[in-house]
Amino acid sequence: MSLITKLVCVQCGASYKEGEADTCPRCGMDEGILDVHFDLERAKQTLTRENLKGRTRSHWRYRELLPLEEEFIPKKGYVGWTPIVNAPRLAEALGIRRLRLKDEGRNPSGSFKDRPSSVGVARAIQVGAKAVACASTGNAASSLARAAAVAGRPCYIFVAKFVPQGKLAQLLAYGATVFRVQGTYAQAYDLCNQACERFGWYNRNAAINPYLVEGKKTGGMELAEQLAGDPPDWISASVGDGCSIAGMYKGVASMQQIGITNWSAKMLGVQAAGCDPVARAFRDGKLDRSGRGDTYADSINVGIPRNWRKAVNAVRDSGGAYVTVGDDQIMKAVPLTGRLTGVFAEPAGATAVAGIAAAREAGIIGPDADVLAMITGNGLKDIAGALKAVGDPHDVEPTIDNVARVVAG
Ligand SMILES: *Cc1c(COP(=O)(O)O)cnc(C)c1O
Repeated sequence: MSLITKLVCVQCGASYKEGEADTCPRCGMDEGILDVHFDLERAKQTLTRENLKGRTRSHWRYRELLPLEEEFIPKKGYVGWTPIVNAPRLAEALGIRRLRLKDEGRNPSGSFKDRPSSVGVARAIQVGAKAVACASTGNAASSLARAAAVAGRPCYIFVAKFVPQGKLAQLLAYGATVFRVQGTYAQAYDLCNQACERFGWYNRNAAINPYLVEGKKTGGMELAEQLAGDPPDWISASVGDGCSIAGMYKGVASMQQIGITNWSAKMLGVQAAGCDPVARAFRDGKLDRSGRGDTYADSINVGIPRNWRKAVNAVRDSGGAYVTVGDDQIMKAVPLTGRLTGVFAEPAGATAVAGIAAAREAGIIGPDADVLAMITGNGLKDIAGALKAVGDPHDVEPTIDNVARVVAG
């Protein structure tokens, strides 16, 4: 038996039983996002520090707080348990006391999204779906295609026109059927919903599928466990749709609620200045639904974020803040992070680093801060984006004198 007790609408507070609704019928699909609640008292009995010691080093180790029946939880798997990288030189460059990175780019398909997608596919199998589908700017899709390939299930993907080549190549290599929608991301998203309805596919879209955030939650649970004796003051993460930061916060809070850890941190939500509806909703209390905006960091290029309320609440409840950063700052953060830490981040990953500089400048965090940045995606995901940020190599004729000229500067 899974330990889910109820699903609660983040807008009106109405609660539903598992399976009764995926979004709140009262508030509608746009606003009625549900949050999954678990029986934490029961979880506490077996999800203990002692038991965790013997468990698989993957996100399946947190099975009590995953939305799955025991028999549908894979026994093995290598999603999650990503390393924490110390980044003293980058900390110095940003003007803070201490910085650590959680390198989520080391997940099997190269991003944080392997966490929710693997949970989504397990859940699809649990509910008897024959195939899975999603609309995505890239990483949600490539991770879903990977998880479907692992499980041997068909996968249908709706991408928008601006999908980076690396992510597209992954989708096709993992064997997904890919629809490249000649329109906006919002249109790809609607088309996917229609197709799921028509063909009975399992819809992985995190906005209307409340169980996906629970996969993202494992990122926060891991942080709680890995940093147990030595927690950061702040956790910085980039925000697109908003469910990643909400999941991270929920994970840290859940571990505190079941008594495994005793710390919490302030969440720093970072958006691109060119596409910042969640940051503005945090300030204004309501969402601008115009869908205007654009950024070079494709993974957070979300004009109409569906999980904005969860993302706003998570940052507020943590005592944190939102900042925005220009595309030029994101671009600078890619090579800065690579050079000073050895971690190659995709633009949306480096956005978490750029946000620290912005928060420092705005006086939101001080010089004494201890920050953990979530590097949500690997730089190889978006080679064209990276190349825009890193400059050109030295073209030399093959003689040592030419090399010497470059070395001499
Ligand atoms: C999806 C994603 C994000 C943002 O997550 P949201 O849930 O959309 O806010 C950040 N970085 C990367 C690399 C992503 O793939």
